[in-house]
Amino acid sequence: MLRYDINDTIAAIATGVGESGIGIVRISGKDALSIADRIFVSKDKKRPSSFKTYTTHYGFIIDPRSSILDPGKKSSIQHPASSIQYVDEVILTVMRAPKSYTKEDIVEINCHGGIVALRRVLDLVLENGCRLAEPGEFTKRAFLNGRIDLAQAEAVLDIIRAKTDSALKVSVEQLRGALSGQINKIRKVLLDILSVLEVNIDFPEEEISGISSKGTTQKLGAINDELKDILDTSRQGRIFREGINVVICGKPNVGKSSLLNALLRQERSIVTPIPGTTRDTIEEIIDIKGIPIRIVDTAGIIEPRDLIEKKAVQRSKRYVDLADLVILLFDGSRRLTREDGVLMRKIKRKHTLAIINKIDLKQKIEEDKIQRRFSRVINISAKKLKNIDLLESTVADLVYNGKISRSEPVMVSNLRHIEAIKRTQKLIAEAVDSLDNKLSLEFVAQDIKDALGHLDDILGKRFSEDLLDKIFSEFCIGK
Ligand code: GDP
Repeated sequence: MLRYDINDTIAAIATGVGESGIGIVRISGKDALSIADRIFVSKDKKRPSSFKTYTTHYGFIIDPRSSILDPGKKSSIQHPASSIQYVDEVILTVMRAPKSYTKEDIVEINCHGGIVALRRVLDLVLENGCRLAEPGEFTKRAFLNGRIDLAQAEAVLDIIRAKTDSALKVSVEQLRGALSGQINKIRKVLLDILSVLEVNIDFPEEEISGISSKGTTQKLGAINDELKDILDTSRQGRIFREGINVVICGKPNVGKSSLLNALLRQERSIVTPIPGTTRDTIEEIIDIKGIPIRIVDTAGIIEPRDLIEKKAVQRSKRYVDLADLVILLFDGSRRLTREDGVLMRKIKRKHTLAIINKIDLKQKIEEDKIQRRFSRVINISAKKLKNIDLLESTVADLVYNGKISRSEPVMVSNLRHIEAIKRTQKLIAEAVDSLDNKLSLEFVAQDIKDALGHLDDILGKRFSEDLLDKIFSEFCIGK
């Protein structure tokens, strides 16, 4: 039996915390309307339980106890003509089951976006017959009530987390069912093959048409091609979704912070002429041609003078270890130093772009030494914003590797889905192998059943509670 109780009513603040124009309290479940009846007075005195679905209504949230309790207590707005406590002026929306986000009755209360007003409204809602929602519980209900499958539910989180337009596009397509549609199509073909196989297993002596080993092998081969096409987009999909890690390295004062700022086009990390100002690492996410780039400006300290610097160096090293790409910066206005040499040696195993900064000044650096060591060297001025575009397009080219065309629709970006598709491919290859080697059809059928199981995992037709917990715990409360 499932641990989740989806028969009770849940509520949460659905918007971000902080001051804003509007904040939304969302209620979902069978008591949503009756709770709203108790705490909402509309201008025309109608009760929310009488409202038509997808209609919005102007009115006030009131404390239903205020007519019998001390009227002065806790009130945010005191109506002069009565003892009713008016908590906030709101717009209330009713979305009735089954056509709502969760497939349950939903009431959304648009309050003023102050944390006190929102909290008071939420408290009143909770006091009047529901419990606080867990993170992602509204979306979990949308899944458990069958409105969306698991891949679509995961897309909701990806939409919220999208850092670039491309990431958003991939996630919206997944929510619209692009991946699910493809997986369902493959599932259907596998189910057809399986049913024919099972008849042949049950009645081996009878002549049953429909099973030709060659035909089945061909169908399975076509499925594997489709799975391969889906997987081929996964590298790009994951880049869009998770971004890549880029670390800016270089000895103190070469212009690391200035470069990060040039990339951000805004002054966020401190830029000063004193060497070693960036005592620690600064991490930002920037959008380079649709790719979310997690970029880190490291301390640049090579020989630490104290414990704090030692820690900073250790942290920088860790970032370099995790980096997908290292940008190694040199000061073009000075000759190479021993420190530059140390850095060049230290990061030799990493994918590195060498950048000579400060081209606006007279160049003294031995550029040929750098050219010899690195396949790609770019000359820039972080301060004068020279060649920053060239640097950005070089990073983007390196990421795309010139292999993946960006116009291709990206199907899959989620590691869980990628793993399930790979397992399906393996099992289908085994099924084809068994057919080729004329093994018992039972082996073939078993492989196909297992392959179907992996596809079911993607859609959430088969799931464990732990998996659901893992997926939905990453959501925010109120989604
Ligand atoms: P970091 O220690 O490597 O982070 O270096 P900073 O970004 O703090 O820069 C050190 C100094 O070099 C500052 O005075 C910057 O204004 C200066 N600087 C950085 N980039 C350039 C550049 O392209 N041209 C010139 N002339 N100065 C630069």
